[in-house]
Amino acid sequence: LTVGVVAETAPGERRVALVPKLAARLIGRGLRVVVEPGAGRKAGLPDELFTAVGAELGAESSCGDAADSRRSDIVLTVTPPSEEDIARLPAGTVLIGFLDPLGDPARVEALERAGITALAVESIPRVSRAQAMDALSSQANVSGYRAALLAAQLSPRFFPMLTTAAGTVPPATVLVLGAGVAGLQALATAKRLGARATGYDVRPEVAEQVRSVGAQWLDLGIEAIGDGGYARELTDDERAQQQRRLTEAIAGFDVVITTALVPGRTAPTLVTAEAVRGMRPASVVVDLAGATGGNCELTEPGENVDVGGVTISSPLNLPAGMPLHASELYARNLVELIELLVDSEGRFAIDPADEIVAGACVAGLPEEVA
Ligand code: NAD
Repeated sequence: LTVGVVAETAPGERRVALVPKLAARLIGRGLRVVVEPGAGRKAGLPDELFTAVGAELGAESSCGDAADSRRSDIVLTVTPPSEEDIARLPAGTVLIGFLDPLGDPARVEALERAGITALAVESIPRVSRAQAMDALSSQANVSGYRAALLAAQLSPRFFPMLTTAAGTVPPATVLVLGAGVAGLQALATAKRLGARATGYDVRPEVAEQVRSVGAQWLDLGIEAIGDGGYARELTDDERAQQQRRLTEAIAGFDVVITTALVPGRTAPTLVTAEAVRGMRPASVVVDLAGATGGNCELTEPGENVDVGGVTISSPLNLPAGMPLHASELYARNLVELIELLVDSEGRFAIDPADEIVAGACVAGLPEEVA
């Protein structure tokens, strides 16, 4: 079997779906790895590092793309394929990557029509057996880390407390809304930078995790746990109450980082326009939910805006800004999934009834590949 690695074409994307040391692991299992020339360059992984472990480079075709890497049995991608990308995939290909099945169902239909078996990493069930394949978590970790660094950089203040001959500077106060994977990493990073960090979530069981990274827990008395232990959408009353209480709390912080998402839905508004007006000038909001509407009412996705001296930043792809480690973690997730699909002789051995395969498969029938 051949595993192809495409060079990402989405604007600003710098990650690559496979890194040399994990290409070596696949080759060790009897798979052929074909990499589109330049696929890893922006992640700091030139072609030579792939060929050194036995991967092959796809042949450049006349239109500039590498036909071979897209004509593999398994094709790995980071970002969802464009219409043209889909047109270049032969029927029967197993495509693995972020495919945004909830955000863009039309793309999933196009993959289905093209006869592609599409495994969306977002749809892998979050069972403990699939933990090593959890690309949402691995990339959220990077996002949380980068969000704290971005906030520190946008803030006109020091994060740590400083006592110097020129005076004493108090530590910055950082509030993180949503204490999932990204939120906890943002808290831990802000704390390591010396800020006074506080976390908030509607799932009370994360209070302990927030404290374990050295942050304080903000309790607003609203619990909203839905299916599978994930946050559910708040009722109108709960939302109004939450916004009121948060507006009061937010006024006391120099930095607010928001990471609250409800899978498949528009992001909840946690920072209202009124809350922004209540913040001191020179405060900063970093909103990680911009792609699904933002957690801040005044967020402009992908932009930095200034509202009365408060900077509101909505980065859309923080993992792309740290492509080497983001790619390494992502590639590890994908290789774990591939190992579930392939036997020790390097042949397809897909069990369509496996809950991980069945959950991840958003188009095409795995039976046909098997
Ligand atoms: P996410 O990105 O979907 O959401 C981020 C956080 O926002 C969550 O903690 C959520 O509770 C919170 N949130 C949602 N709506 C909110 C609101 N209105 N107000 C305040 N907070 C709100 O979540 P995630 O980081 O991908 O994962 C969430 C949790 O799932 C993790 O913390 C972990 O406990 C669990 N998880 C389990 C596994 C596993 O068992 N394999 C893997 C990954 C994550």
